[in-house]
Amino acid sequence: MPELPEVETVKRTLNQLVAGKTIRQVSVHLPRIIRRPDDPVLFAEMLRGQTIQDVQRRGKFLRIILNDLVLVSHLRMEGRYGVYPSGEPVEKHTHVIFHFSDGTELRYKDVRQFGTMDLFETDQEWTLPPLCKLGLEPLDESFTYEAFRARIGKRETKIKPLLLNQEYIVGIGNIYVDEALFRAGIHPERTSDSLKPAELRNLHNAIVETLKEAVDAGGSSVKSYVNGQGEMGMFQQRLNVYGRESQPCPRCGLPIAKTVVGGRGTHYCRKCQPLKSKKVRV
Ligand SMILES: [Zn+2]
Repeated sequence: MPELPEVETVKRTLNQLVAGKTIRQVSVHLPRIIRRPDDPVLFAEMLRGQTIQDVQRRGKFLRIILNDLVLVSHLRMEGRYGVYPSGEPVEKHTHVIFHFSDGTELRYKDVRQFGTMDLFETDQEWTLPPLCKLGLEPLDESFTYEAFRARIGKRETKIKPLLLNQEYIVGIGNIYVDEALFRAGIHPERTSDSLKPAELRNLHNAIVETLKEAVDAGGSSVKSYVNGQGEMGMFQQRLNVYGRESQPCPRCGLPIAKTVVGGRGTHYCRKCQPLKSKKVRV
């Protein structure tokens, strides 16, 4: 599933490709991708004549800003966008096509069919699901150590599932949570109330650094991830633990361990991320 860095990459690419274009018509081939309004004909009717002003991101959601509407899109497992000339043959699994007045098309393709689109009047999107319950935005200025500690600290819950919960912090999925915990030297099964202030501070830094580096690298290419221009992300080469079971830890050389935490496959180093709290650098 694309995480914050991949969605950020799609956002930037889409902005370059479709900002300023006006929607002439919309074809919906798989109605269940459209959740709001629940009538695909009305969805298409509302979008006709709207111009794409900007593409933004909140957590793993894309926000496509139109004249007086906002289209909230989640790619889920394998959703992806592409821009094509209108004559180009339509590939299999293309479920929604936005036809622009300039003869190009934005096509939404989704093999697994888990992606969603919700259309709102401007600003209404913040008061309703799916955006109304989202937690802290880790690359925003508001993601301070104090805000992080207030949201995450002092809970008897394991730290990994806590970081994956989008109501606490958005955008982090299974890849970047393992990477951030490795970077901070924290075992994924530690409970948040067992973390010392210095560890919590390290974790806050690790989350920001991991996500920023991945955004700079254009997102991860794990599991055939491709951005909106068809370019593969480059972050895969930089992963320290995720997908590296039995390979040497880049820090200490011991084999990377794999276990299951909160139902999710989890990669970590037994030595660098001990289950018992260790002495940490401040
Ligand atoms: Zn290690």
